[in-house]
Amino acid sequence: MGSIKRILVTGGAGFLGSHICERLVAQGHDVICLDNLFTSQKTNIVHLIGRPNFEFIRHDLTHPIWLEVDEIYNLACPAAPGHYQYNPIKTMKTSVLGAINVLGMAKRCRAKILQASTSEVYGDPTVHPQPESYRGNVNPIGPRACYDEGKRAAETLFFDYHRMNKVNIRVVRIFNTYGPRMHPFDGRVVSNFIRQAITGQDITMFGDGRQTRSFCYVDDLVEGIIRMMNGPDDFHGPVNIGNPGEFTIMQLAELVRELTGATGRILHKPPLPDDPSQRKPVIDLAREKLGWEPKIALRDGLKKTIEYFRSIKLDEFRAPTPNY
Ligand code: NAD
Ligand code: UDP
Repeated sequence: MGSIKRILVTGGAGFLGSHICERLVAQGHDVICLDNLFTSQKTNIVHLIGRPNFEFIRHDLTHPIWLEVDEIYNLACPAAPGHYQYNPIKTMKTSVLGAINVLGMAKRCRAKILQASTSEVYGDPTVHPQPESYRGNVNPIGPRACYDEGKRAAETLFFDYHRMNKVNIRVVRIFNTYGPRMHPFDGRVVSNFIRQAITGQDITMFGDGRQTRSFCYVDDLVEGIIRMMNGPDDFHGPVNIGNPGEFTIMQLAELVRELTGATGRILHKPPLPDDPSQRKPVIDLAREKLGWEPKIALRDGLKKTIEYFRSIKLDEFRAPTPNY
Protein backbone atom coordinates (compact mmCIF):
# COMPACT_ATOMS: atom_id res chain seq x y z
CA MET A 1 0.00 0.00 0.00
CA GLY A 2 0.98 3.63 -0.43
CA SER A 3 1.66 6.28 2.18
CA ILE A 4 -0.34 6.67 5.36
CA LYS A 5 -3.11 9.25 4.99
CA ARG A 6 -5.35 11.16 7.40
CA ILE A 7 -8.83 10.09 6.35
CA LEU A 8 -12.20 11.43 7.51
CA VAL A 9 -15.23 9.15 7.22
CA THR A 10 -18.47 11.04 7.88
CA GLY A 11 -21.29 8.71 8.89
CA GLY A 12 -18.45 6.40 9.92
CA ALA A 13 -20.40 4.67 12.70
CA GLY A 14 -23.13 3.61 10.30
CA PHE A 15 -23.56 0.35 8.42
CA LEU A 16 -21.34 1.13 5.41
CA GLY A 17 -19.17 3.71 7.19
CA SER A 18 -18.08 1.27 9.90
CA HIS A 19 -16.91 -1.23 7.27
CA ILE A 20 -14.99 1.50 5.46
CA CYS A 21 -13.38 2.67 8.73
CA GLU A 22 -12.44 -0.93 9.55
CA ARG A 23 -10.76 -1.43 6.15
CA LEU A 24 -8.86 1.89 6.32
CA VAL A 25 -7.71 1.26 9.91
CA ALA A 26 -6.45 -2.18 8.85
CA GLN A 27 -4.48 -0.51 6.04
CA GLY A 28 -2.74 1.63 8.68
CA HIS A 29 -4.33 4.98 7.83
CA ASP A 30 -5.07 7.60 10.45
CA VAL A 31 -8.89 7.44 10.49
CA ILE A 32 -11.31 9.99 11.92
CA CYS A 33 -14.88 8.69 12.19
CA LEU A 34 -17.42 11.51 12.46
CA ASP A 35 -21.03 10.69 13.29
CA ASN A 36 -23.95 12.08 15.30
CA LEU A 37 -25.21 8.52 15.90
CA PHE A 38 -28.68 9.41 14.60
CA THR A 39 -29.24 6.06 12.85
CA SER A 40 -26.37 4.04 14.27
CA GLN A 41 -24.74 3.24 17.55
CA LYS A 42 -21.23 2.88 18.88
CA THR A 43 -21.47 -0.91 18.86
CA ASN A 44 -20.58 -0.74 15.13
CA ILE A 45 -17.17 0.76 15.89
CA VAL A 46 -16.51 -0.45 19.43
CA HIS A 47 -13.82 -2.83 18.15
CA LEU A 48 -11.95 0.13 16.63
CA ILE A 49 -12.16 2.46 19.63
CA GLY A 50 -8.82 2.44 21.44
CA ARG A 51 -6.81 1.69 18.30
CA PRO A 52 -4.06 4.34 17.97
CA ASN A 53 -5.02 5.12 14.36
CA PHE A 54 -8.77 5.48 15.02
CA GLU A 55 -10.63 8.42 16.51
CA PHE A 56 -14.38 8.99 16.95
CA ILE A 57 -15.94 12.46 16.91
CA ARG A 58 -19.62 12.87 17.77
CA HIS A 59 -20.70 15.77 15.60
CA ASP A 60 -23.67 16.81 13.48
CA LEU A 61 -22.39 17.50 9.96
CA THR A 62 -25.01 20.18 9.29
CA HIS A 63 -22.64 22.32 11.41
CA PRO A 64 -19.16 23.20 10.12
CA ILE A 65 -16.13 21.46 11.57
CA TRP A 66 -12.44 22.30 11.22
CA LEU A 67 -10.16 19.31 10.63
CA GLU A 68 -6.96 18.70 8.68
CA VAL A 69 -7.25 15.65 6.43
CA ASP A 70 -5.99 14.20 3.13
CA GLU A 71 -9.12 12.30 2.11
CA ILE A 72 -12.84 12.43 2.95
CA TYR A 73 -15.49 9.75 2.49
CA ASN A 74 -18.82 11.55 2.89
CA LEU A 75 -21.45 9.07 4.03
CA ALA A 76 -23.31 11.01 6.73
CA CYS A 77 -27.01 10.83 5.88
CA PRO A 78 -29.92 8.71 7.04
CA ALA A 79 -30.31 6.08 4.33
CA ALA A 80 -33.27 3.83 5.13
CA PRO A 81 -36.64 5.22 3.94
CA GLY A 82 -38.08 5.11 7.48
CA HIS A 83 -35.08 7.03 8.79
CA TYR A 84 -34.85 9.70 6.11
CA GLN A 85 -38.61 10.34 6.10
CA TYR A 86 -38.70 10.75 9.90
CA ASN A 87 -37.42 14.32 9.68
CA PRO A 88 -37.28 15.14 5.97
CA ILE A 89 -36.08 18.71 6.45
CA LYS A 90 -33.14 17.50 8.50
CA THR A 91 -32.40 14.87 5.84
CA MET A 92 -32.08 17.49 3.14
CA LYS A 93 -30.03 19.72 5.41
CA THR A 94 -27.67 16.83 6.08
CA SER A 95 -27.21 16.17 2.36
CA VAL A 96 -26.84 19.79 1.30
CA LEU A 97 -25.25 21.57 4.29
CA GLY A 98 -23.20 18.44 5.02
CA ALA A 99 -21.85 18.46 1.46
CA ILE A 100 -21.06 22.18 1.66
CA ASN A 101 -19.19 21.68 4.94
CA VAL A 102 -17.04 18.77 3.74
CA LEU A 103 -16.45 20.34 0.32
CA GLY A 104 -15.25 23.52 2.06
CA MET A 105 -12.90 21.39 4.12
CA ALA A 106 -11.65 19.55 1.01
CA LYS A 107 -11.05 22.88 -0.74
CA ARG A 108 -9.11 24.28 2.24
CA CYS A 109 -7.06 21.12 2.85
CA ARG A 110 -6.73 20.17 -0.84
CA ALA A 111 -8.18 16.82 0.18
CA LYS A 112 -9.62 14.26 -2.18
CA ILE A 113 -13.32 13.76 -1.44
CA LEU A 114 -15.82 11.01 -2.25
CA GLN A 115 -19.58 11.39 -2.09
CA ALA A 116 -21.81 8.42 -1.25
CA SER A 117 -24.63 9.13 -3.69
CA THR A 118 -27.40 6.71 -4.45
CA SER A 119 -29.44 4.89 -7.07
CA GLU A 120 -32.33 6.99 -5.69
CA VAL A 121 -31.10 9.81 -7.94
CA TYR A 122 -32.78 7.76 -10.72
CA GLY A 123 -36.11 7.86 -8.82
CA ASP A 124 -38.68 5.40 -10.21
CA PRO A 125 -36.68 4.72 -13.37
CA THR A 126 -38.22 4.61 -16.82
CA VAL A 127 -34.94 3.33 -18.27
CA HIS A 128 -33.97 -0.18 -17.22
CA PRO A 129 -31.27 -1.11 -16.24
CA GLN A 130 -29.87 2.24 -15.19
CA PRO A 131 -26.64 3.61 -16.70
CA GLU A 132 -24.99 6.69 -15.19
CA SER A 133 -26.13 8.75 -18.19
CA TYR A 134 -29.80 8.29 -17.23
CA ARG A 135 -31.06 11.50 -15.63
CA GLY A 136 -33.79 9.94 -13.57
CA ASN A 137 -37.46 10.19 -12.78
CA VAL A 138 -37.75 11.72 -9.31
CA ASN A 139 -40.96 13.13 -7.87
CA PRO A 140 -39.66 16.39 -6.35
CA ILE A 141 -42.58 16.76 -3.93
CA GLY A 142 -43.08 13.17 -2.79
CA PRO A 143 -42.09 11.50 0.51
CA ARG A 144 -38.78 10.24 -0.91
CA ALA A 145 -37.79 13.64 -2.35
CA CYS A 146 -35.97 14.84 0.78
CA TYR A 147 -33.45 12.07 0.21
CA ASP A 148 -33.45 11.84 -3.59
CA GLU A 149 -33.31 15.58 -4.24
CA GLY A 150 -30.89 16.11 -1.34
CA LYS A 151 -28.51 13.59 -2.89
CA ARG A 152 -29.00 15.10 -6.36
CA ALA A 153 -28.19 18.58 -4.98
CA ALA A 154 -25.11 17.13 -3.27
CA GLU A 155 -23.91 15.74 -6.61
CA THR A 156 -24.42 19.19 -8.13
CA LEU A 157 -22.35 20.78 -5.34
CA PHE A 158 -19.58 18.24 -5.81
CA PHE A 159 -19.31 18.95 -9.54
CA ASP A 160 -19.53 22.72 -9.03
CA TYR A 161 -16.74 22.66 -6.42
CA HIS A 162 -14.74 20.62 -8.89
CA ARG A 163 -15.33 22.96 -11.83
CA MET A 164 -15.00 26.17 -9.85
CA ASN A 165 -12.38 25.30 -7.23
CA LYS A 166 -10.61 22.29 -8.74
CA VAL A 167 -11.58 20.10 -5.78
CA ASN A 168 -10.58 16.49 -6.50
CA ILE A 169 -13.98 14.78 -6.30
CA ARG A 170 -15.34 11.24 -6.67
CA VAL A 171 -19.06 10.42 -6.83
CA VAL A 172 -20.37 6.88 -6.41
CA ARG A 173 -24.03 5.95 -6.85
CA ILE A 174 -24.63 3.10 -4.44
CA PHE A 175 -27.38 0.55 -5.15
CA ASN A 176 -29.12 -1.42 -2.36
CA THR A 177 -26.43 -2.87 -0.12
CA TYR A 178 -26.84 -5.32 2.74
CA GLY A 179 -24.73 -7.21 5.24
CA PRO A 180 -23.62 -7.39 8.86
CA ARG A 181 -24.14 -4.18 10.91
CA MET A 182 -27.30 -3.13 9.13
CA HIS A 183 -29.48 -1.72 11.86
CA PRO A 184 -31.98 -4.47 12.72
CA PHE A 185 -34.83 -1.95 13.05
CA ASP A 186 -34.02 0.30 10.07
CA GLY A 187 -37.08 -0.91 8.14
CA ARG A 188 -35.04 -1.80 5.04
CA VAL A 189 -36.16 -4.90 3.25
CA VAL A 190 -33.21 -7.20 3.99
CA SER A 191 -33.02 -6.33 7.69
CA ASN A 192 -36.80 -6.48 8.07
CA PHE A 193 -37.18 -9.85 6.36
CA ILE A 194 -34.29 -11.48 8.25
CA ARG A 195 -35.38 -10.06 11.63
CA GLN A 196 -38.96 -11.13 11.02
CA ALA A 197 -37.90 -14.60 9.84
CA ILE A 198 -35.61 -15.41 12.77
CA THR A 199 -38.06 -14.14 15.38
CA GLY A 200 -41.02 -16.07 13.99
CA GLN A 201 -42.93 -13.01 12.77
CA ASP A 202 -44.81 -12.64 9.52
CA ILE A 203 -42.86 -11.13 6.62
CA THR A 204 -44.21 -7.70 5.64
CA MET A 205 -44.55 -7.32 1.88
CA PHE A 206 -45.40 -3.84 0.57
CA GLY A 207 -47.52 -4.22 -2.55
CA ASP A 208 -47.53 -7.39 -4.61
CA GLY A 209 -43.78 -8.04 -4.24
CA ARG A 210 -43.16 -7.80 -7.99
CA GLN A 211 -41.02 -4.65 -7.58
CA THR A 212 -37.32 -5.41 -8.07
CA ARG A 213 -34.05 -4.48 -6.42
CA SER A 214 -30.44 -5.54 -7.03
CA PHE A 215 -28.64 -6.37 -3.80
CA CYS A 216 -24.91 -5.90 -3.26
CA TYR A 217 -23.04 -7.49 -0.35
CA VAL A 218 -21.20 -4.95 1.81
CA ASP A 219 -17.68 -6.34 1.22
CA ASP A 220 -18.08 -5.95 -2.55
CA LEU A 221 -19.41 -2.42 -2.08
CA VAL A 222 -16.56 -1.32 0.18
CA GLU A 223 -14.03 -2.67 -2.32
CA GLY A 224 -15.70 -0.64 -5.10
CA ILE A 225 -15.80 2.57 -3.06
CA ILE A 226 -12.17 2.33 -2.00
CA ARG A 227 -11.12 1.59 -5.59
CA MET A 228 -12.99 4.69 -6.71
CA MET A 229 -11.21 6.86 -4.12
CA ASN A 230 -7.87 5.49 -5.31
CA GLY A 231 -8.81 5.35 -9.00
CA PRO A 232 -7.59 7.49 -11.90
CA ASP A 233 -7.40 11.21 -11.09
CA ASP A 234 -9.32 12.14 -14.22
CA PHE A 235 -12.27 9.90 -13.32
CA HIS A 236 -14.72 11.71 -11.07
CA GLY A 237 -17.82 9.65 -11.79
CA PRO A 238 -20.64 9.43 -11.14
CA VAL A 239 -20.16 5.68 -11.17
CA ASN A 240 -22.72 3.03 -10.28
CA ILE A 241 -21.56 0.59 -7.60
CA GLY A 242 -23.98 -2.27 -7.11
CA ASN A 243 -24.73 -5.86 -7.99
CA PRO A 244 -26.60 -6.28 -11.29
CA GLY A 245 -28.31 -9.46 -10.09
CA GLU A 246 -31.99 -8.39 -10.05
CA PHE A 247 -34.61 -9.99 -7.78
CA THR A 248 -38.25 -9.33 -7.05
CA ILE A 249 -38.98 -8.58 -3.41
CA MET A 250 -41.09 -11.77 -3.38
CA GLN A 251 -38.04 -13.78 -4.51
CA LEU A 252 -36.03 -12.18 -1.72
CA ALA A 253 -38.69 -13.15 0.83
CA GLU A 254 -38.68 -16.73 -0.42
CA LEU A 255 -34.89 -16.94 -0.24
CA VAL A 256 -34.82 -15.56 3.30
CA ARG A 257 -37.49 -18.06 4.36
CA GLU A 258 -35.54 -20.91 2.80
CA LEU A 259 -32.21 -19.91 4.39
CA THR A 260 -33.67 -19.30 7.86
CA GLY A 261 -36.20 -22.14 7.83
CA ALA A 262 -38.86 -19.59 8.75
CA THR A 263 -42.47 -20.68 8.98
CA GLY A 264 -44.23 -17.30 9.24
CA ARG A 265 -46.63 -16.09 6.56
CA ILE A 266 -46.10 -13.37 3.99
CA LEU A 267 -48.28 -10.48 5.10
CA HIS A 268 -49.26 -8.14 2.27
CA LYS A 269 -49.44 -4.44 3.11
CA PRO A 270 -50.41 -1.53 0.83
CA PRO A 271 -47.69 -0.41 -1.61
CA LEU A 272 -45.55 2.52 -0.47
CA PRO A 273 -45.97 5.86 -2.30
CA ASP A 274 -43.36 6.48 -5.02
CA ASP A 275 -41.78 3.07 -4.38
CA PRO A 276 -39.50 2.45 -7.40
CA SER A 277 -40.89 -0.48 -9.38
CA GLN A 278 -37.53 -1.69 -10.70
CA ARG A 279 -33.86 -1.09 -10.08
CA LYS A 280 -30.72 -2.61 -11.55
CA PRO A 281 -27.36 -0.98 -12.19
CA VAL A 282 -25.37 -0.97 -15.39
CA ILE A 283 -21.81 -1.42 -14.06
CA ASP A 284 -19.79 -1.26 -17.30
CA LEU A 285 -18.13 1.98 -16.19
CA ALA A 286 -16.97 0.52 -12.85
CA ARG A 287 -15.65 -2.55 -14.67
CA GLU A 288 -13.79 -0.46 -17.23
CA LYS A 289 -12.39 2.32 -15.02
CA LEU A 290 -11.92 0.53 -11.71
CA GLY A 291 -11.61 -3.13 -12.73
CA TRP A 292 -14.39 -3.75 -10.22
CA GLU A 293 -17.35 -6.07 -10.18
CA PRO A 294 -19.20 -7.74 -7.32
CA LYS A 295 -18.25 -11.30 -6.42
CA ILE A 296 -20.67 -12.36 -3.70
CA ALA A 297 -23.95 -13.97 -4.74
CA LEU A 298 -27.13 -12.98 -2.91
CA ARG A 299 -27.55 -16.44 -1.39
CA ASP A 300 -24.01 -16.36 0.11
CA GLY A 301 -24.28 -12.79 1.33
CA LEU A 302 -27.65 -13.48 2.94
CA LYS A 303 -26.18 -16.46 4.82
CA LYS A 304 -23.50 -14.21 6.35
CA THR A 305 -26.09 -11.55 7.17
CA ILE A 306 -28.44 -14.06 8.79
CA GLU A 307 -25.51 -15.34 10.87
CA TYR A 308 -24.86 -11.76 12.04
CA PHE A 309 -28.53 -11.16 12.90
CA ARG A 310 -28.59 -14.38 14.89
CA SER A 311 -25.44 -13.29 16.80
CA ILE A 312 -26.75 -9.91 18.04
CA LYS A 313 -29.16 -9.24 20.89
CA LEU A 314 -32.04 -7.44 19.24
CA ASP A 315 -33.21 -5.84 22.49
CA GLU A 316 -29.87 -4.00 22.76
CA PHE A 317 -30.71 -1.99 19.64
CA ARG A 318 -32.95 0.99 19.94
CA ALA A 319 -35.14 1.79 16.97
CA PRO A 320 -33.94 5.32 16.03
CA THR A 321 -37.25 6.24 14.43
CA PRO A 322 -40.65 4.65 14.11
CA ASN A 323 -40.26 2.02 11.38
CA TYR A 324 -42.64 -0.05 9.38
P1 NAD B 1 -26.60 4.32 8.03
O1 NAD B 1 -27.84 5.00 8.47
O2 NAD B 1 -26.19 3.08 8.72
O3 NAD B 1 -25.37 5.33 8.06
C1 NAD B 1 -25.48 6.72 7.97
C2 NAD B 1 -24.70 7.34 9.11
O4 NAD B 1 -24.77 8.77 9.01
C3 NAD B 1 -25.27 6.96 10.49
O5 NAD B 1 -24.24 6.49 11.33
C4 NAD B 1 -25.87 8.26 10.99
O6 NAD B 1 -25.87 8.35 12.40
C5 NAD B 1 -24.99 9.29 10.32
N1 NAD B 1 -25.61 10.61 10.20
C6 NAD B 1 -26.87 10.90 9.77
N2 NAD B 1 -27.08 12.23 9.81
C7 NAD B 1 -25.93 12.79 10.26
C8 NAD B 1 -25.51 14.12 10.54
N3 NAD B 1 -26.34 15.17 10.35
N4 NAD B 1 -24.27 14.33 11.02
C9 NAD B 1 -23.41 13.30 11.24
N5 NAD B 1 -23.75 12.01 11.00
C10 NAD B 1 -24.99 11.76 10.52
O7 NAD B 1 -26.76 4.04 6.45
P2 NAD B 1 -25.77 3.37 5.40
O8 NAD B 1 -26.54 2.35 4.68
O9 NAD B 1 -24.48 3.01 6.04
O10 NAD B 1 -25.54 4.58 4.38
C11 NAD B 1 -24.33 5.32 4.35
C12 NAD B 1 -24.35 6.25 3.15
O11 NAD B 1 -24.45 5.50 1.95
C13 NAD B 1 -25.52 7.24 3.16
O12 NAD B 1 -25.06 8.50 2.72
C14 NAD B 1 -26.48 6.65 2.16
O13 NAD B 1 -27.27 7.63 1.56
C15 NAD B 1 -25.54 5.95 1.18
N6 NAD B 1 -26.21 4.85 0.50
C16 NAD B 1 -26.43 3.67 1.14
C17 NAD B 1 -27.10 2.64 0.48
C18 NAD B 1 -27.34 1.28 1.10
O14 NAD B 1 -27.98 0.44 0.47
N7 NAD B 1 -26.85 0.98 2.28
C19 NAD B 1 -27.58 2.84 -0.84
C20 NAD B 1 -27.36 4.08 -1.42
C21 NAD B 1 -26.66 5.07 -0.76
N1 UDP C 1 -40.17 -3.70 1.38
C1 UDP C 1 -41.10 -4.66 1.73
N2 UDP C 1 -41.21 -5.01 3.04
C2 UDP C 1 -40.45 -4.45 4.03
C3 UDP C 1 -39.51 -3.46 3.66
C4 UDP C 1 -39.40 -3.09 2.33
O1 UDP C 1 -41.82 -5.20 0.90
O2 UDP C 1 -40.62 -4.83 5.19
C5 UDP C 1 -40.00 -3.35 -0.04
C6 UDP C 1 -40.16 -1.85 -0.34
O3 UDP C 1 -41.50 -1.53 -0.60
C7 UDP C 1 -39.27 -1.70 -1.57
C8 UDP C 1 -38.18 -2.74 -1.38
O4 UDP C 1 -38.67 -3.66 -0.41
O5 UDP C 1 -39.99 -2.02 -2.73
C9 UDP C 1 -36.85 -2.16 -0.90
O6 UDP C 1 -37.11 -1.36 0.22
P1 UDP C 1 -35.95 -0.72 1.11
O7 UDP C 1 -36.61 0.11 2.15
O8 UDP C 1 -35.01 -1.77 1.56
O9 UDP C 1 -35.09 0.20 0.13
P2 UDP C 1 -35.39 1.17 -1.09
O10 UDP C 1 -34.66 0.56 -2.22
O11 UDP C 1 -36.86 1.23 -1.37
O12 UDP C 1 -34.84 2.48 -0.66
